Amino acid sequence: MSALLPFRTALALSALPGLVLVLLAFLGRVAWLDLALMLAVLILASLALSWIWVRDLRLVALAMQPQAGGRRAARPFLAAAGALVDEAERLARGQARQEEEGAQLLGAEQAIIQGLPDPLIVLGADRSVRRANDAARRAFGGEMAAVLRHPGLRAAIDRAQALGETQTAELRLAVPVEREVVATVMALRPALADGRVVAVLSDRTRERAVERMRADFVANASHELRTPLASLIGFIETLRGPAADDPPAQTRFLGIMAEQALRMNRLIDDLLSLSRIELTEHQLPSDLIDIGAVVSRLAASFEPQVAARRITLHVGVTAGLAPIRGDDDQMEQVLQNLLDNAVKYGREGGAVRVSAGPAPPGVRWPPRPGVLVTVSDDGLGIARSHIPRLTERFYRADKGRSRAVGGTGLGLAIVKHIVIRHRGQLVIESTEGTGTTVMVWLPEAEG
Ligand code: ADP
Repeated sequence: MSALLPFRTALALSALPGLVLVLLAFLGRVAWLDLALMLAVLILASLALSWIWVRDLRLVALAMQPQAGGRRAARPFLAAAGALVDEAERLARGQARQEEEGAQLLGAEQAIIQGLPDPLIVLGADRSVRRANDAARRAFGGEMAAVLRHPGLRAAIDRAQALGETQTAELRLAVPVEREVVATVMALRPALADGRVVAVLSDRTRERAVERMRADFVANASHELRTPLASLIGFIETLRGPAADDPPAQTRFLGIMAEQALRMNRLIDDLLSLSRIELTEHQLPSDLIDIGAVVSRLAASFEPQVAARRITLHVGVTAGLAPIRGDDDQMEQVLQNLLDNAVKYGREGGAVRVSAGPAPPGVRWPPRPGVLVTVSDDGLGIARSHIPRLTERFYRADKGRSRAVGGTGLGLAIVKHIVIRHRGQLVIESTEGTGTTVMVWLPEAEG
């Protein structure tokens, strides 16, 4: 409101009565002196009245401003203006409260969106990214636009917008890394600011891989058991029929049957070990053990197998090794499986070395002080391409040879899980034609 407003109002108020008075003076009904006096009174009265009005109106306007928060500047002169100020103040207080609640809700919503572990992206009507939470930025970085171009995701967005219902789609994304994602797309009705669609992209790569692994595992285990079982059934038929009266054939067949039964037994033993280890994998063993003693004990127990293949076994255990937190039986199993492989796949008449000593300080490996157990042979070795997959269940680098020497394909998988439980690390190094070295690093016991 301008400072001239009271004067302009006073002019408007006094204009008509002033004109009438001047007219009366021209007609001779009012003396000129009286006219001057009356005009002066009229102007003064109009000025006073308009000053009061303008001031009261200013107070009403002030009370309506939300930033005043319903605080009173001064009391108006007129009762009606006072009532208006009261009402305006009440409304302004309500509005200030609502704005505060709105800001709190917005803050909470932001915190929820940011804290959501799954990537969340809000899109505008033109499909451009309006908002993205930290998880989305971490997962897709600068590739968000490329992700949004995925045909499956675009189709889900189209459906969500057309039907106004939440849509889901399973996507296999190629960028920035390959992963399997479940997209949940919701159309925002009414639109949130200029956001029209919300897409939550939950990474399911791990779950899907685990599901596939489980399915493969069951299929593989059944297959591994079915082979010796089929052979047993076949020989039973033969013994009952054609070989019923042929004692030399019976002896030969019974020998093969015993071998197949032992193979099934080994397989079931390994499967049970694996599932037992998996159950305890998250618990670090609490006992303190002397890994050197385990190595010496197991090496001694391998004398017969070593002798059968004319292998020389070299055992090197450093005296006074630091104890590690470990499970004696499980560490025995690690040594059993590694020595078993070294003897099975090592060179007939060759050498197998097993040692336990303090882990030498390495630039990248081993990661910390601890104990290093090494088993090496001078056998045929393993092709480089097989090495990363050797610890998968039923993975065999040389299928025929593994079966021929009675391997289950589970030995290194068991070793890996035991090492994981001990918070250790397993490294396999091999050169084709030269031999294989398997190293197990185990951290020194703390405290
Ligand atoms: P398996 O019961 O078949 O020996 P493992 O899990 O112990 O199963 O080993 C997986 C595969 O790794 C074996 O089938 C074999 O092909 C290969 N392998 C393991 N140890 C050695 C080794 N010392 N030398 C050569 N190949 C090995």
